Amino acid sequence: MVNISRLNKKLERTFGGAVHAELRDGCLYLSGKLPDWDKVVSAGKMSVNKKKYTVVNDIKFTGGEIPSAKMPSVSSNRLAGARPHALVIGGGVVGCAIARELMRYKLDVMLVEKEHGVALHASGCNDGMVLPGIDLRKGQLKKKYTDAGNRIFSFVCRKLGVPLRNTGQYLCFSGGWMKPAAFLSLLYWKLTGIPAEYISRRRLAKKEPHLSDRINFAIFFPTAGVVSPRELTIAYADNAANNGAKICLDTAVTDIDVWNGKIVSVLTNHGRIYPKLVINAAGVFAEDIARLAKDRFFSIHPKKGANIFFDKKAEFLVNTTACFNGISAATYEEDFIVSFGKYTKNIIHAAGIQSPGLTAAPAIAVDVALMAAKYFGAKINEEFNPVRKAIVRAAELPVDERDAPIKQENLSEHTPGGDGKDGT
Ligand SMILES: Cc1cc2nc3c(=O)[nH]c(=O)nc-3n(C[C@H](O)[C@H](O)[C@H](O)COP(=O)(O)OP(=O)(O)OC[C@H]3O[C@@H](n4cnc5c(N)ncnc54)[C@H](O)[C@@H]3O)c2cc1C
Repeated sequence: MVNISRLNKKLERTFGGAVHAELRDGCLYLSGKLPDWDKVVSAGKMSVNKKKYTVVNDIKFTGGEIPSAKMPSVSSNRLAGARPHALVIGGGVVGCAIARELMRYKLDVMLVEKEHGVALHASGCNDGMVLPGIDLRKGQLKKKYTDAGNRIFSFVCRKLGVPLRNTGQYLCFSGGWMKPAAFLSLLYWKLTGIPAEYISRRRLAKKEPHLSDRINFAIFFPTAGVVSPRELTIAYADNAANNGAKICLDTAVTDIDVWNGKIVSVLTNHGRIYPKLVINAAGVFAEDIARLAKDRFFSIHPKKGANIFFDKKAEFLVNTTACFNGISAATYEEDFIVSFGKYTKNIIHAAGIQSPGLTAAPAIAVDVALMAAKYFGAKINEEFNPVRKAIVRAAELPVDERDAPIKQENLSEHTPGGDGKDGT
């Protein structure tokens, strides 16, 4: 039994009666008005009870305009009447990975992305770290998919021709007095299946010669690595398309028609589509898609993450790092949602995929594709080719090798001022 009156008293004390909670059908709905966005979010966080319900935050923010999603400026009718088995909404790493995994089955797959390219939101603006998930707890979906994603990540990168640097990750400690706690944690990570080892300052300094004097020892996680998140997302989309998926850029979902608990059609700026199943991988806009699909049982509050950039000239100081920033799509429960709809039958949500969602994406995709295949009773696609030819990295080639394809393609003819002789 959930004691909502106690929660309501707490909300009343904190927000002076401006916020009210109501429990309906396994969801806790928050209503009211607040002029401060941080307070809107903190009311949501304060109301979480992971075992009993999910939080849907309907508190109206009165302190300004919430910017709506940027929509494509183009429109046409070219997708009107399309009838794919599965329509994936969102061309981030999650949506593109799902589209590729769906192609393992005999299914018609379409992916729509509102931007002019894939990976232009969180999937292109993150650290690119393949994480071991050391801060995750058992029982979370986040933990399940991060563990599984981490295990298959290098295999996926090999198949897709995407470089993965197996750097490992160090958790550094400054005080020697922290050793007992660190050893206990080491035991915990080993028990939860995360490979980890103690590294003395001497050994660490051999790997990182410019180590700060303050570092006393570290714990090393060998399964961490660094990948280009944008390149991985593009590779997933590329391999999905090579296997027959239709990837539609500059295509935004603007409305969804639901009838008797089932999605009948999806309106885009390129016409109305009639999918049998919709997969919601819309990142920070996943709640908007759920609302259109009449299946809103969670709320997303975007979280900005910012990291330090190291000056390129100071690169020699550190061998084990990567930096970037972007916006995460967090639910109030701080966990992933990977499930069929609650009220609408033919939708699967891959929502609330915040960090370490890049690491988890390969495993989420495998599961979502399996759920979809079971939904359709789909057969295995014997023609699926998981291998994508790696792209040529001109910057990494010796000069003569770099010039050869340019000459072959006779690109000099198209290069203003280039005569091809000096590789221009
Ligand atoms: C600063 C930062 C650092 C991070 N570092 C790491 C890390 O080191 N390791 C790690 O594992 N994870 C990391 N993450 C998490 C990771 O980046 C995300 O979990 C992951 O990229 C989420 O992918 P996604 O596909 O769900 O979302 P997104 O990449 O946001 O993709 C969603 C897509 O849906 C599209 N879309 C939305 N609405 C519509 C619509 N109506 N119609 C059509 N398309 C629509 C959007 O345009 C967008 O392209 C980090 C995140 C941040 C913000």
